[in-house]
Amino acid sequence: MSKIKFNIPYLSSSGNENLYISDVINGSHYSGNGRYTTKCHNLISNILDCPNVLLTDSCTSALEICASIIRDYSSEQEVIIPSYTFSSTAAAFAKLGFKIIFCDIDKNSMMMDVEDAISKITKKTAAIIAVHYGGDVLNLDRLSLTCKEKNVNLVEDAAQAFGCSIDNKMAGTIGDYACFSFHETKNLHAGLAGCFVAKNKSDMSRATFIWERGTNRSEVLKGAVDKYTWVELGGSYYPTELQAAFLFAQLESFDTNLQKRKELHNQYVESFQSLQLNIKKQAISQSVKHNGHAYWIKLPSEDKLTGLIEFLRSKEIDAYIGYVPLHNSPISKKLNFYLGTLPVTESESKLILRLPIHCAMSISDVKSVVKNINSYLQG
Ligand SMILES: *Cc1c(COP(=O)(O)O)cnc(C)c1O
Repeated sequence: MSKIKFNIPYLSSSGNENLYISDVINGSHYSGNGRYTTKCHNLISNILDCPNVLLTDSCTSALEICASIIRDYSSEQEVIIPSYTFSSTAAAFAKLGFKIIFCDIDKNSMMMDVEDAISKITKKTAAIIAVHYGGDVLNLDRLSLTCKEKNVNLVEDAAQAFGCSIDNKMAGTIGDYACFSFHETKNLHAGLAGCFVAKNKSDMSRATFIWERGTNRSEVLKGAVDKYTWVELGGSYYPTELQAAFLFAQLESFDTNLQKRKELHNQYVESFQSLQLNIKKQAISQSVKHNGHAYWIKLPSEDKLTGLIEFLRSKEIDAYIGYVPLHNSPISKKLNFYLGTLPVTESESKLILRLPIHCAMSISDVKSVVKNINSYLQG
């Protein structure tokens, strides 16, 4: 049997990635914000049913755009972020001078403990960053209301949630701002790319200035002003046309990719259901349409987790641990973001195991992963 890798970056079955990249080369405009960027904008807008999108070179850059829009340099500002997340979620805000206040997670979903987040709101809180984890979507009903009441921005780190919805609302269109990742480890990708989303159209002119290195060049192109000038602390945040062309082919395969991933995820659910194992399993709520980005389990102890990873490796199956918490990391201590323990984050992050899931896998691969986990735990 051949090795079951944790991820194999997606390629569309049409093979149009090659065709569109050749088209860029023939057209000789490479640097970005061109034809394929516009095509991606249109397709992403259609999928999300939201017009306010900007393609970025990564989700990290999209988070930096969110942070730049929210930052008021004349005051001290805090943002509340779950500690159980990727470093970029916090770093994008920390770099612009926000104080990071870490909150705990809910043990069942491994996503933000909304009550803990709300209890940490102060007069300095400028934003709460909700992270949708593992193809699941955090219910934002209560958080949205509280944020509105307290005049706090709600940002969705939807890096892993492209195409997901909750109560028929697309992930990434619920908060004030959101970001997606098109890194090769995500469902659809361009090697590296991402996307920024704003709920309100009124944010798009500032977002566009920040996107284009902080200048108002877009106003010059529209004829609104005759010379461009430096108006925001921006970055060089858009991807090249080569990446956009590749991504456009991937976005065209959105439905096929989603279908396949859902089948694999549902097979994990089904295969584990028939077994009596002493593990916790990812359980996505009925109100969520997931995108099959991930499937995870939690072992009863850290030793069992390490043992299982080694056992699976001996069977040529890759499986990985989850995030290492950020709140007690070296950089958090250095920057004074470490404000004490987060019990659920600290205990649960040591038990989680992410299983392989990608479009080059078959249903029988999933069965084989589950069979091996069963034999390790029963053995
Ligand atoms: C992948 C990921 C990111 C970073 O995405 P890049 O496109 O690599 O910058 C940020 N947040 C979460 C939750 C992610 O999973």
